[in-house]
Amino acid sequence: MARRRSPQERSPRSLDALSASEAVNFNFDRAADILALPDAERVILKSPFRELSVELPVKMDSGEWRVFNGYRVQHDNSRGPCKGGLRYHPSVSTDEVRALAALMTWKTALVDIPFGGAKGGIACEPQRMSSDERQRLTRQFVRAIGPIIGPAQDIPAPDMNTNAQTMAWIMDEYSNSHGYSPAVVTGKPLHLLGSAGREDATGRGVAILAARACQTLGLNLSGARIVIQGFGNVGSHAARLLQQRGARIIAVGDASGGVCNAEGLDIPALIAWTNEHKSVAGFPDAQGCPTKKLLETPCDILIPAALGGVIDAEVAARIDTKLVIEAANYPVTAGGAAVFQEREIPALPDVLANAGGVVVSYFEWTQNLTEFRWKEDRVHAELEEILNRAYDETARLAVEHKVDWRTAAYIVAIDRVAQAARLRWLS
Ligand code: NAD
Repeated sequence: MARRRSPQERSPRSLDALSASEAVNFNFDRAADILALPDAERVILKSPFRELSVELPVKMDSGEWRVFNGYRVQHDNSRGPCKGGLRYHPSVSTDEVRALAALMTWKTALVDIPFGGAKGGIACEPQRMSSDERQRLTRQFVRAIGPIIGPAQDIPAPDMNTNAQTMAWIMDEYSNSHGYSPAVVTGKPLHLLGSAGREDATGRGVAILAARACQTLGLNLSGARIVIQGFGNVGSHAARLLQQRGARIIAVGDASGGVCNAEGLDIPALIAWTNEHKSVAGFPDAQGCPTKKLLETPCDILIPAALGGVIDAEVAARIDTKLVIEAANYPVTAGGAAVFQEREIPALPDVLANAGGVVVSYFEWTQNLTEFRWKEDRVHAELEEILNRAYDETARLAVEHKVDWRTAAYIVAIDRVAQAARLRWLS
């Protein structure tokens, strides 16, 4: 009888058949092998602690009732309350939310902040809904998941298509039934106990870590040609801050189109254009760029900052870059990552590259609990210190174990979570 091949031996194309949560666990196993983690601990640490799926009836502006599906997955709370964003997108599913919740466990452990991992999502098309409809949907979701969230239990934050206003509705709805509770959610507006520096924290982290990765690889960030997919919260701030460090952003794409300029796009002007027109498409002083080809634009640094799973084995084979910074969550499939390894294209993994957001969310939660506010320069300095430490540990373990940055990051993270779990209950 033919021997069954372990996932590690599979071809890049067959690895693409893994679902998002299976792909995260595939990465987990590679690091767990190096840590020699016992089988029982692997099973426990990989599986989600709690999954809640809710039905959300909402009365639309037309008077018609519609039912949406919402999810909250709490993956692990060994190191502290669960923490993770809330996403509004038609593609939201149990498997996607489960994968993103696990990523949060490894991310919070890697940057060593006192949280576990969670994620939430609602399958909906927010662009086709009015603000009132989005508000009713958000409040209905908070009522449905209310029993399992809280400042010491699970703390949501913004993700795709949710923003500071969404977080304000969450805080208000939760406080209506539990008393004033700003620490139940992060990413709130500044006027509602949000933190200075939270809005651009993920993009700022991307810029800080891109600079570190360039140093390691001997690439010059100043003058580097950068391509970015996604021009929302993460992509636009990363573009702005990387341009400030001297990089040339030569192409940007979003859900509606793409634009490019070999000399470098004027990012502040592109941000103003996008705020007005809701897309980068049509921006003057640039050529149009088909969104399908955007990721294949030759560049020095490629930054996927939109959806997950966009770089599979086939796309990875056509990418022409020296460095990938995974600003989005799970932008590279297991097959895509295997092709990058074969082609020796370094990729800074999502659990590190986009961790700036959750780090400043941690600062916001801390400020809410202590009823004290930090100045913006303190937020920036502490963010940089935490990300630099996580980068140094990842880079050191990558060299020590002769593995890629992704596996090294998982080694740091899994070891921390396993140790906490053993000290609390897993022994
Ligand atoms: P956002 O909603 O602000 O922006 C998303 C961007 O992606 C928009 O420009 C949108 O047009 C674009 N997009 C959507 N579908 C696309 C497609 N098919 N092709 C090209 N572009 C497309 O979301 P965000 O907060 O910037 O999040 C982006 C990514 O970063 C997500 O993967 C999210 O999980 C991750 N992330 C966000 C944060 C945060 O603090 N917001 C933190 C960590 C990770």
